[in-house]
Amino acid sequence: MIKFFDNKLFRYLSVFLFLNSSILPVKSSSALAAWAINTNGVLELRTKSNTNLKAYFQKANQISGDRFWVDFPGELKNPRTIKGNGPIKEIRLGKPDKGKTRLVIEFKAETYLKPLTWQMVGLDKNRWRIKLFNPKYSFKKIGEGLVEKKRRNNKANQNLIHKKKNNYGYLKLPEVKRNKFEVVIDPGHGGPDPGAIGIGGIRETDVVLEVSKIVKKLLSEKGVTVRLTRTNDVDLDLPPRVSIANNTDADIFVSIHANASRGKRRDINGLETFYYRGWKGRLLAKRIQKQVLRVSPGSPDRGVKQGRFYVIKNTRMPAVLVEIGFLTGRLDARRLEKITHRKRLAYAIAKGILEYLDKVG
Ligand SMILES: [Zn+2]
Repeated sequence: MIKFFDNKLFRYLSVFLFLNSSILPVKSSSALAAWAINTNGVLELRTKSNTNLKAYFQKANQISGDRFWVDFPGELKNPRTIKGNGPIKEIRLGKPDKGKTRLVIEFKAETYLKPLTWQMVGLDKNRWRIKLFNPKYSFKKIGEGLVEKKRRNNKANQNLIHKKKNNYGYLKLPEVKRNKFEVVIDPGHGGPDPGAIGIGGIRETDVVLEVSKIVKKLLSEKGVTVRLTRTNDVDLDLPPRVSIANNTDADIFVSIHANASRGKRRDINGLETFYYRGWKGRLLAKRIQKQVLRVSPGSPDRGVKQGRFYVIKNTRMPAVLVEIGFLTGRLDARRLEKITHRKRLAYAIAKGILEYLDKVG
């Protein structure tokens, strides 16, 4: 610990994070009332009013990964460990000393944290927030208790939910004949082949797998049978992807990828969709390209093109390969990092597919 006190980072953080000054009596119960790490990487805390918090950060060492912890006055009753997900290995709640509570967030190795930008913000006399990381792929919320005070005005709340729903009205999906169509969705890469690696280490394999899974869910809800060529981060060669499609007599095959530019140029962004042959393939590509562009304003339209990619060349049904943006491009990467944008892209791809099936099927 002495070494740690010499650490510049610690001094910096300590300036920011030593908050308030009233101290609770040692014997009282824990001042930590509720906590949550949200899907956007923000840690929220609810404490007793006017609590004195202390927060610390320590770089990974041989024993543990990067750790962020907060000490609260008052003794914790039940020390416990909660399993993390995404970049978080685990969360531990403990009592480092008598009369104290410590909330430790331990990160997995190779997370790209930027503790120098961290800032604990007091929202209220009993609520705090700090942005710890930017989720690179889907992160499931972890927490205990209610961080937010219950809202008294339920009506206002309902209105809010209603408005949110309306915002997605333009993404309404068309209906098709149920139980008639079969679609193969191919999330590019996987396993030892992560595909493109973009800004901040964002990986194509993760992005396209998540988008593909949402596409599957959306199409399934419309009565379309969907097969994914892979459902997790596994190594899958190109020929088996093709035979999955050819052996199932699928109506269409859609391979989902994300781009990288040579030299990782940040000024190159845009979307493009490839087909190999036939008016059906071209039509499917056009429908998908139109929809993905709609949810990616400002990102260039690189067009619908003929391409000789193995998976679209060797599949027997109309087949396309869509590139949903450049992971190396400043504009696209910033968006592709976000779960909301991945969902929008999935909606767009599903919409293009349903429009095509409705027209041609
Ligand atoms: Zn790819």
